[in-house]
Amino acid sequence: MARAARLMPGGVSSPVRAFGGVGGEPFVVSSGAGARIRDVDGREYIDYVMSWGALALGHAAPAVLDAVECALRRGTSFGMPTELEADLAEAITARMPHVEMLRFVSSGSEATMSAVRLARAFTGRSAILKFDGCYHGHADGFLVRAGSGIATLGLPDSPGVPQALASLTLVSPFNDAARVREMARIHASSLAAIIVEPVVGNAGFIAPDSAFLPELRAIADETGALLIFDEVMTGFRIAPGGARERFGVVPDLTTLGKVMGGGLPAAAYGGRREIMELVAPAGPVYQAGTLSGNPLAMAAGLATLRALTPALHDRMAARTARLVSGFGESAARAGLPFTADHAGSMWGYFFRSEPVRDFTQARASDTALFRRFYHAALARGVFMAPSPFEAAFVSAAHGDAEIDATLDRLDDALRAAVAS
Ligand code: PMP
Repeated sequence: MARAARLMPGGVSSPVRAFGGVGGEPFVVSSGAGARIRDVDGREYIDYVMSWGALALGHAAPAVLDAVECALRRGTSFGMPTELEADLAEAITARMPHVEMLRFVSSGSEATMSAVRLARAFTGRSAILKFDGCYHGHADGFLVRAGSGIATLGLPDSPGVPQALASLTLVSPFNDAARVREMARIHASSLAAIIVEPVVGNAGFIAPDSAFLPELRAIADETGALLIFDEVMTGFRIAPGGARERFGVVPDLTTLGKVMGGGLPAAAYGGRREIMELVAPAGPVYQAGTLSGNPLAMAAGLATLRALTPALHDRMAARTARLVSGFGESAARAGLPFTADHAGSMWGYFFRSEPVRDFTQARASDTALFRRFYHAALARGVFMAPSPFEAAFVSAAHGDAEIDATLDRLDDALRAAVAS
């Protein structure tokens, strides 16, 4: 880390990895296998970060390794179409039929940035509405009340974002449809899109109230704005078909990343055909990428989606449910304020007595207790996101034995956090 810190800001390639939210030094990874990750000093952790949700099948999953190896031997990148892109596009649209067409990119940030450009072009409007604590990547217009690393590091908004751009981003509390309706009414003629994490992962885990997403759909329809589901984290994670399948609400555009790349850099944005046909070269909205649709990433994503059957999703969700409820029982025994929840294999917890509905409530959780608990859990070999404002993930490699071992260690860590 010392060597890295001389050469890279904070010694990391992405901010939250630096442990700024919990203090101390991050570990340096040497390898991962299944549910476990190992550092260069030989310590092993049961991993609930799972590359921030990208690894649905676990580390070094044989199906992914085989697919990538097979693709690798044919060459790593061509800058021309491959069959794998059509294969993965078919696999995605089969699971998400409202994604009628899509464009592959290499990161979630690119997907959301491009989806907003497209929504602006389609509607001829400029403003977007996002939610307090939702993170949609690091494009200028999204760095307004964004959660995740920005919240963890206590950065208000990022310097370098021109005021002119930030002023086009409206922000409402999550789960507050009345506020959205009021803002949408005031800005009706300029609102291009409402963008939302259908289940929030970047302010910690926050589930939508049952009426919230249907209300957003109705407000978008009333104002002519597009509804964008940012499913970079939730896609193929909270249900085989993501938020539409789970909540029955159909967005106009969807952004995807993480799971669909199987742990390699791949992401996508897609949606209704009449909107997607505006993207170059079919239409005039420009967006491009040298490594977009990279064959190794396409192969990894395809192997992952094929393995993620509905039955496997159910098993992962059941294990996640057991983890969340066992963790809650331990917290209750330790006499701690605690709330936890999950959607499929995505989960999260706060040290707060009441369920969390928005980012204000998330911030009101006991973050000092979180930091003490965090280090106690890490010392016992459980690796979770080093921030109270991040979600956690169970993979297909987390079997009952891993869940049991985790529950034992977390129970012990909670008692240690109380004592310290
Ligand atoms: N949207 C959401 C909902 C995310 O969780 C993330 C990343 N955590 C992004 C967008 C940005 O994706 P990437 O880090 O791949 O740019």
